[in-house]
Amino acid sequence: MKSNPAITTQLSYLVSIEKINSPRMSAILKVYSKVLKTMVDILLDKGFQWILPVILAKSTDPLWPDPNFSIEDRIELEIYGTRVKTMQSMIVHKRVLVSLGPPKIFTLSPNIRIENRERVATGRHLYEFTQLDLEIAYGKMDDVFRLFEELVKRSIEVVSKEMEEELKIFSRELRIPSTPFKVFKRRWLIEKYGEDWEEIISREFEEPVWVTDIPRQFYDYEDVETGEWRNYDLILPEGYGEVLSGAEREYEYEKILKKIERDGLRREDYKLLLELAEKRLLKPSAGAGLGVERFIQYICGVKHIGEVQPFPRIPGIVPDL
Ligand code: AMP
Ligand code: MG
Repeated sequence: MKSNPAITTQLSYLVSIEKINSPRMSAILKVYSKVLKTMVDILLDKGFQWILPVILAKSTDPLWPDPNFSIEDRIELEIYGTRVKTMQSMIVHKRVLVSLGPPKIFTLSPNIRIENRERVATGRHLYEFTQLDLEIAYGKMDDVFRLFEELVKRSIEVVSKEMEEELKIFSRELRIPSTPFKVFKRRWLIEKYGEDWEEIISREFEEPVWVTDIPRQFYDYEDVETGEWRNYDLILPEGYGEVLSGAEREYEYEKILKKIERDGLRREDYKLLLELAEKRLLKPSAGAGLGVERFIQYICGVKHIGEVQPFPRIPGIVPDL
């Protein structure tokens, strides 16, 4: 990729001490606290258990096959003579926990994904970011829709009402979305808008929308008869794009095994998940993960996601801190 001098100057500012010291950064950090408190309070009130994250594990999200997949490296290291990976998402851990432990859980989970360095230009990718990641045993798609509609709408309302001063710093006029959000099928969007549907609907629609039926990782539920996937993304307006992915989940041993093989994955990497499924201990569930930095980026109306991290993890750039 040719370097554009304007982008290069902006990027060096994003990783500078001056940025950490700026009124915009302090306003962004206040927005984080407000939004996280709002969302965590709602979840705790609804009886979710707050789980602390895991970072190193033998098993993590394969991130494959996902239409948005573009990582240039997977970090593996050896501890105590055993190979482990850094967390790409806690999906496997969430599935096991809601099956054997509390039925409703959430975590703020750091994910390490060494995104292709060209993604510096998207303004939406980081190589370390955080998911507000939750799972509900026996949950359904609609339960997750209603829950995240409340989390998203309430966060926007609270920031609009209580953080006028901060929003002024970004010249941000936030629109409070109406709920429920509209739901579209991916196949219909492709017919209408072509393969770039995500970018187009994100620019054209004025409210967040749900998109369902996206062929991807083995753990999302696929209806074999209709070929429909019971999964979903939440797309934000104003060009901010996908902020959340989630699904109802597979729980049957034979089906999971077949899909793992179809995707060319190693079954040893999902040993415990498969064992539980084989013993019929893997419960059906539904869940989703919201990209916290992307959501804050949207709320503040910031152009590059690197701006919302005090210590940015921008693809291709390794700063001093
Ligand atoms: P996924 O399940 O892979 O779609 O990840 C869940 C959510 O995390 C996405 O919808 C994004 O909001 C966020 N996310 C995923 N990858 C990145 C990234 N490289 N940088 C920042 N946020 C990300
Ligand atoms: Mg996704």
